[in-house]
Amino acid sequence: MTNPRIEIVPLLNDNYGYLLADETGEAAIVDPAEAEVVLAAAHQHQLRLTTVLATHHHGDHVGGNLELAARIPRLRIVGYAADRDRIPGLTLAVEPGDVVQVGQLRGALLAVPCHTRGHVAYHFGRALFTGDTLFAAGCGRFFEGDAAQMYQALHQVFGALPDDTLIYCGHEYTENNLRFAASLEPNNPAIHAAARRAAKLRAEGRPTIPTTLGEERSYNPFLRVRSPELLASVQRAHPGVEVTDPVAVLGVVRAMKDHF
Ligand SMILES: [Zn+2]
Repeated sequence: MTNPRIEIVPLLNDNYGYLLADETGEAAIVDPAEAEVVLAAAHQHQLRLTTVLATHHHGDHVGGNLELAARIPRLRIVGYAADRDRIPGLTLAVEPGDVVQVGQLRGALLAVPCHTRGHVAYHFGRALFTGDTLFAAGCGRFFEGDAAQMYQALHQVFGALPDDTLIYCGHEYTENNLRFAASLEPNNPAIHAAARRAAKLRAEGRPTIPTTLGEERSYNPFLRVRSPELLASVQRAHPGVEVTDPVAVLGVVRAMKDHF
């Protein structure tokens, strides 16, 4: 499988769009929250933007779709068929299992409903574009789904992918997420190492993205719902929770994060 060239495009306050390009410079933008910055980034990197890949319908992910379509002739806007009515300007509705093509690159759409019922991820080579489902050290809010769906997404769908998978997520939330992680597993050295790395990168004005799935498995509380230290913390805060049920634990950890 060919790995795409990837350029990170900071958008709005803390969103990330991603340009992924093949060897000829044909490119897609994942989640263009705004158009002008994306066009400037494509120009700066000498890429030929032909495609938008939408992870979900929220405005801070698709806000630039229509203006990009107005500015780029024959722009393709790709999204999940199940959410066709909510993705502005959609021109190509795809299903899980379909091949998503960007120039010479071939990727897959993975359905991961929960943050929204039509949320998807895109998988190209080693790169996984996770939108607001999996963040570095965190996960998205359950706006239109439940803990069982997020468990399915994180532990079954992404759970099938190898440790060296690169995680490109929708927001720069890493430092706050790691503070929450440390509150649940204060003795996990991977959390403190990741926090030091994130603080250094942010101080330099650089993204903490990408991380790897292997790193996430070492410090992300939503992937660590079987960690004894995490379970003890959850039990202390919510004595009624059934800690042998990883779905229940995931739901309680998300609720704790909502109020962190
Ligand atoms: Zn969202």
